[in-house]
Amino acid sequence: MSHSRYRQYSSHLRDKFGEKVYKLPINLIGSCPNRDGLLGTGGCIFCDEEGAGFECLSNTKSIKQQLAENKAFFKRRFGADKFIAYFQAFTNTYFPLEQFKENIAAAAQAEDLVGISISTRPDCISDEYLEALIPFARQGLDVDIELGLQTVNYHTLEYVNRGHTLAEFIDAVMRIDRKGFDVCCHIILNLPGDNIVDVVENAKVLSALNVQYVKLHSLYIVEKTKLGRQYLEGKINIISLQEYVERVVTFLEYLHPDIVIQRLVGKGPKEQQIFSNWDTSWWKIRQMIEGRMEELDTYQGKKCDYLNGKALNKFR
Ligand code: SF4
Repeated sequence: MSHSRYRQYSSHLRDKFGEKVYKLPINLIGSCPNRDGLLGTGGCIFCDEEGAGFECLSNTKSIKQQLAENKAFFKRRFGADKFIAYFQAFTNTYFPLEQFKENIAAAAQAEDLVGISISTRPDCISDEYLEALIPFARQGLDVDIELGLQTVNYHTLEYVNRGHTLAEFIDAVMRIDRKGFDVCCHIILNLPGDNIVDVVENAKVLSALNVQYVKLHSLYIVEKTKLGRQYLEGKINIISLQEYVERVVTFLEYLHPDIVIQRLVGKGPKEQQIFSNWDTSWWKIRQMIEGRMEELDTYQGKKCDYLNGKALNKFR
C-alpha cells in the first residue's frame, strides 16, 4: 500500500508496468439497453445523455483518431509513454459481436498500449463476448471490464431504475473472473435510500467477490433527468459532505486491502449541473477523506475480518 492509507491506482500501475500509465478515453456512438427501449427509455434516474462520457472527445471521430489525439495530449502534458485504451461512455459490450470485436481490434492496434479497459453494464456481459477478448490478452494486453453497479442494495437499484439487480452483477463478475480478466466496479456511496449499512455491505460484497478495482463517485445531479426533477421538487435528500467523507472512510475500512482504488473522488459534468460534489473541488474532498483517515489512524482493510469463516476464528 506504499505510504498511503488506501491502495492507489497510480502506484499500482507503476508497480505493474514499471512506469506511469495513462488511460485514453474512447467515446463510441453507442447506447444502452436501459435507454434504447429494450429495458426502458429513461435510463438510470441520474443518467445524462452523454452516457457518462462527458470528458471524452466527440464520438464522430474514429477510435484510431480519438486514441491518437488523446495520446498526443497525454504525451505533451505528462510525458507519458504507456497507455490503456479505455472504452468509457455508454455500454461498450452492447454491440453485435462482430462490431464489438472490430472496435476492440481497432483500439488494440495503437502503439504503446499495455491494456484495454471496457466499461459496461452487468447485464451486457456474456461468455462469448468475453471469449472474444482472449486473443487480445494473449497479445499481451491487460484486459479489465468496468461494471457499473452503484450499490449492492437491490431495492435502491430498483429505485434508480438500473434495469438489473445484484444477481446480474454477481453473475458477470464470476464469468469475467473465470476468463481471467480483472473487474473494476463503480460505486456511489450516497444514493438516496442507502445508509451506512449499505456502505459496509458494498465493501463486503466486492471483497467477497474478489474484484480487483473500485471506482467511487458521489452522486451528481444534472438537468433533464428524473433525479434532477425529484431533487428540484424537494423529494430527495442528499447527505452532507461530512457524512459522505465518513461513508468513504468506512467503506475503505471494510474493503479488502488488495483491492485497488482507481478513483477515490469523481468529477461531475460541467454542463447542466444541478448538484455535484457539494460545490467542492474533487481534490479538496480527497484531502478531507485522507485527512479523516489520518485523524482516525485508520486504513483500507482495517475491518476486513469477515471473510473465510469469521466465527471459526474462535478455534484458530
Ligand atoms: S447504465 Fe449507464 S448509460 Fe445506461 S442508463 Fe444507466 S448510467 Fe446511463
